[in-house]
Amino acid sequence: MNKYEIIVVGGGPAGMMAAYFAAKEGKKVALLEKKESCGKKILLTGKGRCNITNNRSWEEFKLHIHPDSGFFKNSFYHFSNEALVKFLEAAGLEIEVQRGERIFPASQKSADVRDTLLNELKKMPNIDLLPNSEVMSVDLVEGGTFVANVMNDSGLIKCEPYFSDKLILCTGGLSYPATGSSGDGYRIAKSFRHNIVETTPSLTALKPSPYNFFLVGVTLKNVALNLVIEGNVVQSEQGELSFTSGGIEGALGFRVSRKAVKALLKGSKVGLVIDLKPGLTISQLKDRITRDTLGGKKVDLKKYLQKLMPRQVVDPFIAMNPDISISNLPIKLKNWKFDIKGYVGYERCVVTAGGVDLGEVSRKTLESKIVPGLYFAGEILDLDGDTGGYNLQIAFSTGALAGYSAAIAM
Ligand SMILES: Cc1cc2nc3c(=O)[nH]c(=O)nc-3n(C[C@H](O)[C@H](O)[C@H](O)COP(=O)(O)OP(=O)(O)OC[C@H]3O[C@@H](n4cnc5c(N)ncnc54)[C@H](O)[C@@H]3O)c2cc1C
Repeated sequence: MNKYEIIVVGGGPAGMMAAYFAAKEGKKVALLEKKESCGKKILLTGKGRCNITNNRSWEEFKLHIHPDSGFFKNSFYHFSNEALVKFLEAAGLEIEVQRGERIFPASQKSADVRDTLLNELKKMPNIDLLPNSEVMSVDLVEGGTFVANVMNDSGLIKCEPYFSDKLILCTGGLSYPATGSSGDGYRIAKSFRHNIVETTPSLTALKPSPYNFFLVGVTLKNVALNLVIEGNVVQSEQGELSFTSGGIEGALGFRVSRKAVKALLKGSKVGLVIDLKPGLTISQLKDRITRDTLGGKKVDLKKYLQKLMPRQVVDPFIAMNPDISISNLPIKLKNWKFDIKGYVGYERCVVTAGGVDLGEVSRKTLESKIVPGLYFAGEILDLDGDTGGYNLQIAFSTGALAGYSAAIAM
């Protein structure tokens, strides 16, 4: 009989941490993973480099956690960014801090992060790592035993039951379903009467309409991006953005996408305004342009624009601003407007906003307030972060806390 003290469902970063810390407390643990290997999504992170976490202190870190950083605080203090780095270094992974306090493996290879975690799990004799094991449903039977009904590669057509005293759901959200996260955990949580806060794609490309496809492939550095909802600027960010086949993304596009997607879903009018010269005021720009163009005399506008923006941007910029002239150039440079009519969905967004309602989960232990013995960790929870390593830290910290709390509660 497949009997364990703790079953962890889902072998992403949250599930791997949960299994490790439950086993560290001496419990017999099964880690059930639907795909052929654990941590498939980790391989994609940070464009293959894996932005593991962010080095900032809690006071700054919390500003990047949504919708309730207070809920996450216990998990963070239980297993912080510092603790994570120590853990990975002790396991043999070299770490590097980069711009924006983002932490990466020194090798710049996300596979090294995944392999380090897997090696640590394999060192624990009391963890059964069970890939190709898809949990189809979970029951709670008399005496408080969980039964995970698993479709595995044993050759059986019907599900095989796995029994446990505690069960930790770490099945992720809905983004990049090819990595295994296809929302199964929400269904299982609902079967235990948990409320799922409406999910939306987040950290995703925003689609301008009309979209000038000549911009695709361009990255703009040191620009500002303003998110405008119903005519009001609701968020302003400075840094780098990219135009891709999906739309406007990159660090800036992602940062405003959370609010933008929610506004679009409500039917609000959404726009993005790029300020190509955020370091200069309109009057400073005016002075500079007057100086550069000798008061606008005999200037070839197109040639001049090539000095102010990447060459590939000039034609689309002129096409989108047909009334452009030397006199209105300062205003145009600081107000390049895009109407946003859509966004890229779960198939290619970085993270899912929404999920298991935090009001129904203990922030101290991550145990369900509805079903004793059931725990949640990672993206399945209604917690998400900005880009910069915050989402993986959510997964690592909540995974560590859920594994530990489930183990010591026995
Ligand atoms: C392209 C991309 C780049 C990213 N880059 C970064 C980055 O650099 N830094 C950062 O902080 N965050 C990044 N993220 C976000 C981060 O990867 C996720 O937030 C994090 O992986 C969530 O961890 P998780 O363990 O909760 O869920 P997941 O990583 O999604 O893992 C869930 C696991 O559960 C398994 N599972 C699902 N259903 C079942 C079932 N029924 N039975 C058994 N197993 C099941 C899945 O197969 C999967 O292995 C990125 C995400 C994407 C998509």
